[in-house]
Amino acid sequence: MSSRRFFDARKVMLELNGAEGGGQLLRTALTLSICTGTPFRMTGIRAGRPKAGLMRQHLTAIEAAAAISAAEVRGASPGSLQLEFVPGPVRAGDYHFPIGTAGSTTLVLQTVLPALLRAESPSTLHIEGGTHNPMAPSVDFLTNAFIPLLHKMGANVELTLDRYGFYPAGGGSLRVRIAPGKLLPLTLTDRGALKSIRALALISAVPGTVADRELAVVARRLGLGPEALEHRSIRPAVGPGNVLMITIESKHVSEVIASFGARGVTSETVAERACVAARAYIDRGVVVGEHLADQILLPMALAGGGSFRTGGLTEHFCSNASLIGKFVPIDITANGQVVDSSMSSPGSRTADWLVELKS
Ligand code: ATP
Repeated sequence: MSSRRFFDARKVMLELNGAEGGGQLLRTALTLSICTGTPFRMTGIRAGRPKAGLMRQHLTAIEAAAAISAAEVRGASPGSLQLEFVPGPVRAGDYHFPIGTAGSTTLVLQTVLPALLRAESPSTLHIEGGTHNPMAPSVDFLTNAFIPLLHKMGANVELTLDRYGFYPAGGGSLRVRIAPGKLLPLTLTDRGALKSIRALALISAVPGTVADRELAVVARRLGLGPEALEHRSIRPAVGPGNVLMITIESKHVSEVIASFGARGVTSETVAERACVAARAYIDRGVVVGEHLADQILLPMALAGGGSFRTGGLTEHFCSNASLIGKFVPIDITANGQVVDSSMSSPGSRTADWLVELKS
């Protein structure tokens, strides 16, 4: 089913500099390209990263974006620093995207979700790869923090986790049902009363004492009782993995803080890291956490406006905001200043910011 509403073959090719950020810039460009029917050429893709250019997970995001929009693509090969992407009309459908590695399923989902919300009929997605990866939103983050905000904006999205997948083994699987609908502006300047704090220690093919030790630290540091602590052992395990997630639910917004177990890091250190981040979020009265802030910008821009308070401007936030402004006629300001890459400084990470999007 085609969606002519968003596709305009007369649009000129946007020239983008990928060296201003990482994989997120590419994914944002793909999402907005298919949502607005704007072709783009990105050069210097991930040029500042240790392994520059396109990696497997970025290629899957490109393939997914191309599949739902019948795009013409040039330069989509491993290590490529340049990509040309010319989208066609977005088509709803039943799509299967196997990443083939432990690459993040959630980042692929975030790439195509906004466009499928704007299609003319419902879609389903089946994505296989990693579901709990360091440096990406976990499925729990999407389920408890990101998707509830989309619901508040009027979106009809349902995510089901079939199987967990950790780096490096992968093997995870998620399914998503998306019914089309218009995104509405959202104001999120107050988090409301604190409702609950819960901790979940997930383990896969590692000793159960790892989760027990992590949860003991959380219980002591955050003063949580046994009813708020869950030890979940994944069976059958595809490969080893451990993540501790602390979910802080307030009336209007939730935050999910993740800390991953790694070789050479004690379970107590893994838990301490999560507790320090959780304490900072709670005590500083932060509304939208730093990761949610860079991820919610794009849906808000597509909704034509919105505002929220956040506790710091990260490089991801600033580079994403600058790129969004190239595709969508929207002004993004933080405490009244137009957001650009220079605003991400150590000082900006601890200040309170009111972010506003106005078309
Ligand atoms: P690169 O490898 O080029 O650095 P990438 O493809 O891994 O890039 P990023 O550009 O780093 O991706 O973007 C990662 C995305 O994952 C960002 O939106 C960031 O907010 C999000 N993210 C990272 N860690 C977490 C976390 N713990 N919880 C929620 N979201 C996260």
